[in-house]
Amino acid sequence: MENFDTVSLSFCGGTHNHKNCVTTALDEAEQLCISRGVRLTDARKRVLELVWDSHNPIGAYDVLSKLSQESGKTAPPTVYRALDFLLEQGLIHRIESLNAFVGCSHPKEEHSGLFLICKDCGCAAEVHDAVIDKTILNKTDALGFKAEQRVLEVRGLCPDCVA
Ligand SMILES: [Zn+2]
Ligand SMILES: [Zn+2]
Ligand SMILES: [Zn+2]
Repeated sequence: MENFDTVSLSFCGGTHNHKNCVTTALDEAEQLCISRGVRLTDARKRVLELVWDSHNPIGAYDVLSKLSQESGKTAPPTVYRALDFLLEQGLIHRIESLNAFVGCSHPKEEHSGLFLICKDCGCAAEVHDAVIDKTILNKTDALGFKAEQRVLEVRGLCPDCVA
């Protein structure tokens, strides 16, 4: 597995072209779903796009209200089912402490999500580290524990908010 251990956290401050993030994420999602033979329906795709609206984790309720605003009243199960699908496919991660979702920037590889979450501006930067990944897998395997969700959350201040 490739090691992505250095990730620029500058995106928290919104100084990058976020459209690129969204386009890349949607393209990757489409390709992945095709290669896995699962359907990225319009509703699922739109929910993914809404989650990718920013790098700040978004709650299911907010996704629902955005969707209802643009396409009329939407049934909550539509959103929950879409979010479940996206989670299953590894296209998004769930941030338990915030009860919210954030897009995965490298869904092609199975990995643990390590998130640096800024308590000030709310951004969540995903850090990729194959060593941490392997350590977690080794530990869980050794204990005979079947890991399902592997998301680590580190809370603090992003570089923009520290400054
Ligand atoms: Zn972005
Ligand atoms: Zn991820
Ligand atoms: Zn911040």
